[in-house]
Amino acid sequence: MRVVMKFGGVSVKDGKNILHCANLVKRFAKDNEIVVVVSAMSGVTDSLANAAYKCCYERSLGFIKSFIADLAKRHYEAVEVAVKNKNIKSKVLSTIDNLVDELEKVLTGISYLGELTKRSEDYILSFGERLLAPIFSASLLSVGVDSVALTGGDAGIITDNNFGRAKPLPESYEIIRNRLEPLIAIKKTVPVVTGFIGTTEDGVITTLGRGGSDLTATLIAAALDADEVWLWKEVDGVMTTDPKIVPEARVIPEISYQEAMELSHFGAKILHPRALEPVMAKKIPVRIKNTFNPDANGTVIKEETKSTKEIVKAISLVERAGIINISGAGFDFAEIMSEVFRRLAKAKVNVIMVAQSSSELNLSIVVDKADINKAMKALSGLNNGVSKISKKDDIAVVSAVGAGMAGTPGVAGRIFSALGRNGINVIMISQSCSEYNVSFAVAKENGRKAVKVIHEEFNLGAK
Ligand code: ASP
Ligand code: MG
Repeated sequence: MRVVMKFGGVSVKDGKNILHCANLVKRFAKDNEIVVVVSAMSGVTDSLANAAYKCCYERSLGFIKSFIADLAKRHYEAVEVAVKNKNIKSKVLSTIDNLVDELEKVLTGISYLGELTKRSEDYILSFGERLLAPIFSASLLSVGVDSVALTGGDAGIITDNNFGRAKPLPESYEIIRNRLEPLIAIKKTVPVVTGFIGTTEDGVITTLGRGGSDLTATLIAAALDADEVWLWKEVDGVMTTDPKIVPEARVIPEISYQEAMELSHFGAKILHPRALEPVMAKKIPVRIKNTFNPDANGTVIKEETKSTKEIVKAISLVERAGIINISGAGFDFAEIMSEVFRRLAKAKVNVIMVAQSSSELNLSIVVDKADINKAMKALSGLNNGVSKISKKDDIAVVSAVGAGMAGTPGVAGRIFSALGRNGINVIMISQSCSEYNVSFAVAKENGRKAVKVIHEEFNLGAK
């Protein structure tokens, strides 16, 4: 089999875990062709973002020294545990030294200039992955697996120059294939590629957006016609709901691409929202596996089949949301809609859900709570018949997802009667024509209870 495996976050949080992951790769590399994609050690990308901001706005050189010392120490310590062989160790330590020196210079520059562009921010954020890939690769070498570390750019990921959220260009596929195929098929090496980052055609480092390592993995899988993508995490797979809310929640063995995307949109942190795009066309399954329980099958995200169809399969919850209500008389609806969404897009507001009353007198929009004031500001001064714009904070959005809902009568009825029986007031409802999900807004304090009620109503904990 040809498998692209991505490791990130807690799975690679320290030397012990990195070594554990390297041994996992070793086990599967015996009979398979493997490409590894790594993201940064847990918390590192956040700390880099924070450092960039601090250097620019607080301009403290003392801070840079201590930040760099901590970052270097964390990676040195990882090497100490993850890389046993002396020669390999000293080589990777000098790679880390060079990277850390470079980062210190960049941060110092930012601090002197007091200016942080999207381009320099991407450059700074790239260090998390650029530090980890050589360590992971060295760990593989030291357990006896031939390996080479590559950046996203080395591996052929060419993007546009939309820094912070760069999009891979179509020509990447062929370049990736030309660069990686010989390594895995002829040299029998395991390439370890930095997730999250690419490069423009001129060789400038870009990032694919937070959580973008998933996209790196699926992109490479599509380019290499891999059999599967494995995303290694600290959970057994995609769950029917958050087990912290419903202890009976269980792992879902199979889920379709469409369902996974719906769940991710409505708050379930399964994978990067754009990550399924490259693999869907080629029907390459994506498997979520547990690094610390590697023999479990996990969840397979794949093309829709009979076996993936259930009426309600999973329930997600967004707990921090708010509603904006736009009402008036004599709306020109199409005109108002386009103006509202143009303004929200420009203000980079994340819209979670939309509903419109059929009398055309009302438009309700659910947004991230963090964006609500920004959204109100963006919408102020709307005219064309709008008489009132109001907001409601402290909203939760619950979403029931399942491909089997389409064409099954009575699902919405069951959901809302169950909520009614339990005294939960529904503020807003939306269902798309795909009928893959029913989403509704309730007061924040009812969010968790609503999840429990529906989980129970559809017996999701029972299997
Ligand atoms: N390290 C990056 C982030 O934290 C990319 C990733 O985790 O996939 O966003
Ligand atoms: Mg990360």
